[in-house]
Amino acid sequence: MVPLTLNAFYAWVMTSATTHVADSFDTLQVAGARENNLRDVTVDIPKRRLTVCTGVSGSGKSSLIFGTIAAESQRLVNETYSTFVQGFMPPTTRPQVDRLAGLTTTIAIDQESLPANPRSTVGTVTDVHALLRMLFSRVGTPHIGGPQAFAFNVASVQASGRITVQKGDQPVSQHRDFSMNGGMCPACEGRGAVSDFALEELYDAERSLADGALKVPGYSMDGWYGRLFKAAGLDMEKPIAGYSTDELDLLLYSEAIKVKFEGANLTYEGLIPRIRKSMLAKDREAMQTHVRKFVDRAIVFAPCTACNGTRLNDTARSVTIDGVNIGEVAS
Ligand SMILES: [Zn+2]
Repeated sequence: MVPLTLNAFYAWVMTSATTHVADSFDTLQVAGARENNLRDVTVDIPKRRLTVCTGVSGSGKSSLIFGTIAAESQRLVNETYSTFVQGFMPPTTRPQVDRLAGLTTTIAIDQESLPANPRSTVGTVTDVHALLRMLFSRVGTPHIGGPQAFAFNVASVQASGRITVQKGDQPVSQHRDFSMNGGMCPACEGRGAVSDFALEELYDAERSLADGALKVPGYSMDGWYGRLFKAAGLDMEKPIAGYSTDELDLLLYSEAIKVKFEGANLTYEGLIPRIRKSMLAKDREAMQTHVRKFVDRAIVFAPCTACNGTRLNDTARSVTIDGVNIGEVAS
């Protein structure tokens, strides 16, 4: 740096008064990066802009971004911890690069996919949503409780009963009420959508069970399921369109019941609970192709009408800051 006279320094301060000196480091400079297959890469990356790094597989995008820039930033952060703490950290080495300037703290978001849980969102994975909940619990009106009152994965619960408290050397029985205010929409259990079965994809109403009315993969009437349906007392010859409400209920929604068939004890369960357990509990990617296609046809997702897809109950949505509720901020 060129040495400045005092006057020149003042002049410089005055001219740069409009742009803060901290804002003048507007690029992240990489010179001579040689990590992995990089061959002496020199680039200036503008800050406060979205910069996309593209290239064919193996061209060194990750070596530049993760292996060089993020690695050095991490190493510098780790250096600020005491030697004692550093002893517990994985060793980091300086990346192969001639110069890195304008480096700030890096937040590396890896390329792994989001968890399969439908309750995960960008907000929950990055923890930004936790801060939003805190904000709404502190300054939102009306005040309804702590951050968990805005959590769409916490249900409101209430309990009451007797507990025993030690008073002096006497155990004393007392009545206590317990309630916890969660933000979960009770209708969709915080999913924001409800799933329903498209019945016409489950069976052909014009046919009877014996005539192959069921369209569910693997439900052949020649085998196990045929015996189960017979054992449960379903009419195998009547077209399903002719079933009474009770018969249809037995076919579709029955809870697990014990039935006897040719001396054997069997468990019968309606089609829908059975499909929920056998097919929907699995990860979509783990399904066989024909099962996945069936599930895609048979299950229809619709936004939850109780919460309009916001996942939150009425109480949580009644709290606003400047007229905006947390669901609107998060969407
Ligand atoms: Zn809902």
